[in-house]
Order: sequence, then C-alpha cells, then structure tokens
Amino acid sequence: MSQQPNVLLLGPPGAGKGTQSANIADEYDVPHVTTGDALRANKDMQTEHGTPRSFMEAGELVPDPVVNEIVAEALGDGEGYVLDGYPRNEEQVAYLADITTLDVVCLLSVSESELVDRLTGRRVCTECGANYHVEFDQPDEEGVCDECGGELIQRDDDTEDTVRERLRVYHETTEPVVEHYREAGVLQEIDGEQSPSAVWDTLRATIDETI
Ligand code: ADP
Ligand code: ADP
Ligand code: ZN
Repeated sequence: MSQQPNVLLLGPPGAGKGTQSANIADEYDVPHVTTGDALRANKDMQTEHGTPRSFMEAGELVPDPVVNEIVAEALGDGEGYVLDGYPRNEEQVAYLADITTLDVVCLLSVSESELVDRLTGRRVCTECGANYHVEFDQPDEEGVCDECGGELIQRDDDTEDTVRERLRVYHETTEPVVEHYREAGVLQEIDGEQSPSAVWDTLRATIDETI
C-alpha cells in the first residue's frame, strides 16, 4: 500500500490528537488536516450559517456545510494525510466516505477526568499551533514555543464550563462516529493515557502494521 497513508485520528477533546498528528505528519511526510485549526483561522468568516466563532465559543459544532467545504479543500487529491477533528457526526462520516478512502483509523482513549485536566492546562502556540501543557508538557521557556518562538496562550474554549459542554457534545454526537468505524471493523483503539512518547510508539507500530 501507499507510503503516505491516509490516517484518521479519533478521540475526545484533549485525547492528544493534535500532539500525535504532528508526529504522524513528520514521520510519514503527510499534511496535518485539522478542522479545529482551520476554523480558528477563519473564526469571523461570514457564511449563510453565521460565523464559526459563536459556535466554537459555546463548545458546539460548527454547521456541516462550513466544515465539509474546509475538509474537501484541505484533503486536496487525498494522497496521504492525517485527519484530526473530523468527522464529528454521522453526516460528516457520509460526506468523508464520498471524497476519500481511509487506510488507518485509530482511536485515542482517555478517561474523562484526565481529559478535563489536559484541556484546562493546555497552552497553544499562536504562530504554529503546537500544543503544550502547564504540567505535562512544559516548553523550555514559559510562554514561548520551543518550535518557533511564538507566544503560548490558553484557547478561550479551554475553560472548565466550555470543556464540559464539548465533552457532552462528544458523547452525544461523536461517539456514534467511533461506533460506526468499530462496526465497520476498521477501528484500532490505543491507550491514550500513556506518556506522549509511549502513545506515539504504540500509534506508529499500529500504523506500520496496517499499511
Ligand atoms: P486534542 O487535539 O485531542 O484536543 P492535544 O494534543 O491538544 O489534544 O492535547 C491536549 C492537552 O494534553 C495538551 O495540553 C497536550 O500537551 C496534553 N497531552 C497530549 N498528550 C498527552 C499525554 N499522552 N499525556 C499527558 N498530556 C498530554
Ligand atoms: P478539540 O479536539 O480540543 O475539541 P478542536 O480544535 O478539534 O478541539 O475543535 C474546536 C472547535 O471547533 C469545536 O469545539 C467545534 O466548535 C469546532 N469544530 C472542529 N471540528 C469540527 C467539526 N468536524 N465539525 C463541527 N465543528 C468542528
Ligand atoms: Zn510555535
């Protein structure tokens, strides 16, 4: 099969999708396609459904037509990518199946209490999007990105109340997506509670065995 796999990384908010997608993008030389980053870069884009900002700040899903268009454009010819944060409901699953074929589908599993700790302590680079954590993954210099020197900030949806709402939306709307791939027999579940490097070892081995 192809050297540059089409990888889908599933998991609740805070599971480590962004962190591990960066590893996958490096290792397999594929683009990291993430609807969250694309939407944050276009928060005030006017669409017939309103702007993404209001949905994102409330922890709700942005309407499908907006997100589907972003994904179709970002996947391009669909020759190798790691997709993170999409699909999040069954309509998006159907749309994705129409535009590409997945080679590997992995789920990062993490308990609810650990997710809350990870999200409320997350810091992100305003320049390159790299993820850090005030306790679990500190940069060399506080507030400064190791990769690019950019400023690290807390996302405005990483507050405890919005985190709880995002987790509720995940259980209600995105868990059926996970079940869809499980029933299709393609889901590979990975223990996301290990250290970042141990998760990466497991994930890389899983991808290498599949492609
Ligand atoms: P997601 O993209 O799934 O929302 P992130 O990759 O942004 O998740 O990770 C959420 C937070 O948890 C970040 O602050 C990140 O530094 C931290 N993190 C990621 N992986 C681990 C891990 N294996 N153990 C502890 N903290 C982690
Ligand atoms: P996390 O993985 O930490 O939940 P993301 O960066 O993936 O965060 O998503 C942030 C926000 O962007 C979501 O709460 C939602 O409002 C919006 N979003 C991202 N991906 C999608 C999607 N596939 N469908 C609808 N909304 C999305
Ligand atoms: Zn950076």
